[in-house]
Amino acid sequence: MEKAALLTEFKTYAPHIDTAPLEKAYDFSKRAHANQERASGEHYFVHCEAVAQTLIEFKLDMPTICAALLHDVLEDTPITREQLASEFGEEVTLLVEGVTKLDALQFSSHDVAQAENWRKMLLATAQDIRVILIKMADRLHNMTTLNYLDREHQLRIAHETLSLYAPLAHRLGMFRLKGMLEDLAFQYMHPKEYEELERKVQEQTRGRDASLNAFKAVLDEHLSKMNIPIRVATRTKSLYSIYEKMQRQDKPFEDIQDALGVRLITDTIANCYALLGTVHTIFKPVSGSFTDYISVPKINLYQSLHTTIVSPLGDFIEIQIRTEEMHRTAEYGIAAHWRYKSSPSQKDVHLEEKLNWLRQWIEWLQDLKSPREFLESL
Ligand code: MN
Repeated sequence: MEKAALLTEFKTYAPHIDTAPLEKAYDFSKRAHANQERASGEHYFVHCEAVAQTLIEFKLDMPTICAALLHDVLEDTPITREQLASEFGEEVTLLVEGVTKLDALQFSSHDVAQAENWRKMLLATAQDIRVILIKMADRLHNMTTLNYLDREHQLRIAHETLSLYAPLAHRLGMFRLKGMLEDLAFQYMHPKEYEELERKVQEQTRGRDASLNAFKAVLDEHLSKMNIPIRVATRTKSLYSIYEKMQRQDKPFEDIQDALGVRLITDTIANCYALLGTVHTIFKPVSGSFTDYISVPKINLYQSLHTTIVSPLGDFIEIQIRTEEMHRTAEYGIAAHWRYKSSPSQKDVHLEEKLNWLRQWIEWLQDLKSPREFLESL
């Protein structure tokens, strides 16, 4: 994404923030990487743009976007820490430095050493979790350009992504990113299985459309009389998570029956409960299936109402009801807590939530006495 497009995207969620630093970081980094190329033969800076684009998609704050654009200048160009600090200030510099230190860590490829890898990574980023968010976006882009590397490198990086980055994304509640990283890694590690599963899932999705449409039609009819804004989204599992389940249960795809999953996304908490009432009035709920994660959020702040109903065609549909806000938290996890408020009167990033996360993170780190204990705590 070129500069103008990045600026436009950023302004959609932070219209009141001055974009001069973003423009400056863009030009600075582009100049610094001018003579470098990626394995793909593209200009190196394309990578920096892609990392910034992902973090803008996460709606992150200005220092994070600047640091994303600059994340490789200390490691790969003659630019010094001092230059960076005088041009962009301490906050951005500390973020870039954090990513650079993280890149210098040697992770062992042996599974027994995974816990130690985690510890290293977490300790390196404990000061500012935004470092790990930049690193995650960096890994995502490297995974999407893995086809330009040789087979040995592909396997090593894919393995590291599956064993280190995807579980970390899970722990941070970044489920969207986790699914993307897993499926990219899966594609390189087991290309045949990936392709086969992709085809089967597509077939299954087509088969489920009838059930979904019948459900929507009945729901729409009832909701048209009420004044509740609603967006219906189907829940898709990552191919890798299906593959994992097949391995774990030692069953073929046909025997792994996940119910059709649907999300009803609305504006307010009151409307979440109103929707729940409506759904339970129209469809028969499966007893014992209801859980209220709105009143009692999960530890990673996940909130939604869960219920399973019998569809008009007789099969089960798992329903999650949530607000747009809850949806963001569920998809982006910790990254959702560094966003800007949309209205100018609420300028600040959610400071309180941010601090809560940090506190949890640090407590978690302090609790870890040994790698073994650490692994168990996951
Ligand atoms: Mn990079």
